[in-house]
Amino acid sequence: MTSIESKIKLIILLICSIYLINAQENLNNSKFKQLHEELPTPNVYRTASGAPGHEYYQQKADYEISVELDEKNHTIKGNEIITYTNNSPDILKYLWVQLDQNVRAKNSHAQLTTTNSMNDKISFGNLKRMHDKMNFDGGFKLEQVTTINGKKLSYKINETMMRINLSKPLKQGQSFSFKIKYSYNINDRMKIGGRSGYEYFEEEENAIYTIAQFFPRMAVYNEVEGWQNKQFLGRGEFSLPFGDYKVSITVPEDHIVAATGELKNSSAVLNKKQIKRWEKAKNNYNEPVIIVTQEEAEKNEKEKSQKKKTWIFEAENVRDFGWASSRKFIWDAMAVDISGKRVMAYSYYPKEGNPLWEQYSTRVVAHSLKTYSKYTIDYIYPQATSVHAKWIGMEYPMICFNFGRPETDGTYSERTKYRMIGVIIHEIGHNFFPMIVNSDERQWTWMDEGLCSFVQYLTEQEFERNFPSRRGPPTKIIDYMKGDKSGIVPIMTNSESILQFGNNAYGKPATALNILRETIMGRELFDYAFKTYSERWAFKHPTPADFFRTMEDASAVDLDWFWRGWFYTNDHVDISIDEVNWFKVNTGNPDTENPIAKKKQEKSDTYIGNTRNKSSISKTITEKDKQAIDFYTTYDPFSTNILDREDYNNYLKNLNTEEKELLNSNTNYYEIQFSNIGGLVMPIILEFEFIDGTTELMRIPSEIWKQNSKKIKKIFILENEVVNIKLDPFLETADVDMNNNYWPPRNEPTRFQLFKQNEIKKENPMQRHLRSKKNK
Ligand SMILES: [Zn+2]
Repeated sequence: MTSIESKIKLIILLICSIYLINAQENLNNSKFKQLHEELPTPNVYRTASGAPGHEYYQQKADYEISVELDEKNHTIKGNEIITYTNNSPDILKYLWVQLDQNVRAKNSHAQLTTTNSMNDKISFGNLKRMHDKMNFDGGFKLEQVTTINGKKLSYKINETMMRINLSKPLKQGQSFSFKIKYSYNINDRMKIGGRSGYEYFEEEENAIYTIAQFFPRMAVYNEVEGWQNKQFLGRGEFSLPFGDYKVSITVPEDHIVAATGELKNSSAVLNKKQIKRWEKAKNNYNEPVIIVTQEEAEKNEKEKSQKKKTWIFEAENVRDFGWASSRKFIWDAMAVDISGKRVMAYSYYPKEGNPLWEQYSTRVVAHSLKTYSKYTIDYIYPQATSVHAKWIGMEYPMICFNFGRPETDGTYSERTKYRMIGVIIHEIGHNFFPMIVNSDERQWTWMDEGLCSFVQYLTEQEFERNFPSRRGPPTKIIDYMKGDKSGIVPIMTNSESILQFGNNAYGKPATALNILRETIMGRELFDYAFKTYSERWAFKHPTPADFFRTMEDASAVDLDWFWRGWFYTNDHVDISIDEVNWFKVNTGNPDTENPIAKKKQEKSDTYIGNTRNKSSISKTITEKDKQAIDFYTTYDPFSTNILDREDYNNYLKNLNTEEKELLNSNTNYYEIQFSNIGGLVMPIILEFEFIDGTTELMRIPSEIWKQNSKKIKKIFILENEVVNIKLDPFLETADVDMNNNYWPPRNEPTRFQLFKQNEIKKENPMQRHLRSKKNK
């Protein structure tokens, strides 16, 4: 090696080691690095505090719609007038309208981009579903797109989006009205699925229609996305401006219609008895009043009137409109007091929903409105409706479609009951996120699903102590968090690209918020900040940054590390107690320390050679040698003599009172080393158990990891002697491996099961529980 070569090698080595040090530092700092680079720059529309800025604006879209349901052919025919108001400072040369039904059109991008695979075994049902989906003639059929005076408008359809080319640009403050005449085939939900559609009851030739995305709707325009015209591919839901609706719905005469908004012509569609019952319900805050009875519904089912009726509904300041119609509907109602204002809770369900629905649905609606209002803002719409719809849970303003159907003999399992209550809470909760706090679902599923699921958990726990909530408690998310990372994407992932949809967009954000509330911020700081976010963005369009910023702004808790870890990575929590070292002060007093040292030596293990030497010596030595040896073996290096005591007293003379106290305190010092194995930095919560049986809890904020996010040491000064240490004793942090959370390590056997080679697949505990009940 020449000297030049060695110099180069040295330089390379130096560069490498500098790089390594930097990498290490970056790695460490990155967990607590502020989110400036990830969040958009604050501006006049959205402030750095997370509130709407002084120039905040939003567009408005008002609708006058009249639709007719053709029950025989399962089609909708519609006419609408959209009045679009440009409140932005920008001049618009075109408008974008969403044609969501086109997702079901043959060869839609949604269908073309759906991936699937074939197995050597496939059920008839699944194969049929694939065929039915492919063969369904879905999508909007537009007859006319014209000005209000009937003049043809120039437009271009691109998949689920339609661009209306304006002949005159729309300036700030100006409105433009136009008409669309259209129709579409309603999908059979049971055959090809869908958020809306119909369920057909073959034996009696009746259907329940749950209808949504039934009219061309305006896209959102703002300073965040420009036109939010990202195509609807099926997963990423909706992004919609607020507006006022007037909707006329023509259906068979004996149908009962539920819808967004308030019914404006009750005397034309309900009989006198029903109107009277409804009036009674308006003053009944304790229990539901039946407006359309099961008897009346069953009579309608059989008669099948051929006449028609038109129901007229109006809704103000909503972002969408949904409705349901069937002659099978029973309808009940009760009044709910929201801060002194009356809101009506409604349920519509067929006899197949009973006895579960008449007992729970409306009561759960009322409870949900109260609880969500408490944690967010008061519910200000006039009503909230829960409609029975097999298999699905889907939300629209003031109305939602919910599953939960008993067996045909009217019995139901606890699971069916709790899941029905859970879904009603959740879908009613969607009135707050995203119907009122109107986030962009096309972009971010978690902003409505995550927040809604979080309050759902609180609402469930307030409905019934120990309600079997599926999402919310940290322990429920562990299996997902510790899973194969190739199947886990950060929460901050576009709605269409999310893997493990439910865990990612519902479960994980709900858990994260629950952890913020219980562990990081505390209930008071969290609840105030969460309410502030709801108040700031009610009837507006928030983004993730507005949420992240508001939660910090209203609480003075730096949460950038939390958003970074929980929302921008797929890391998990696994903190371990690596090492515990116990120290006590050496008093220096020979009368104290020597006996301790002697005891320690006696207890310590001996080198094998020493033992062997001793026994071999004793066999061969003479009596004279033995005397000499005895002198040395009786010498005690730990005995205390007068000189030792003199030294100690001289040492004491140089100490002041405070120092002497420290010297004789008998305090225990525990130096504990922790490792962050999972990557997510989290608070360290420790429970010390002492020799006298008492315990002490210590909560250390996450910032303990601020300089080294991998390994840290900390000294704990404790008067009492520790016998056990537990990390995260109350299961608050979703720590995926509890085995490394104890000192001394827990020594309990893991019980493994033996099975015979061809044993049948094990039932899950719920199936087993149900089977054991049946067999009773
Ligand atoms: Zn949801």
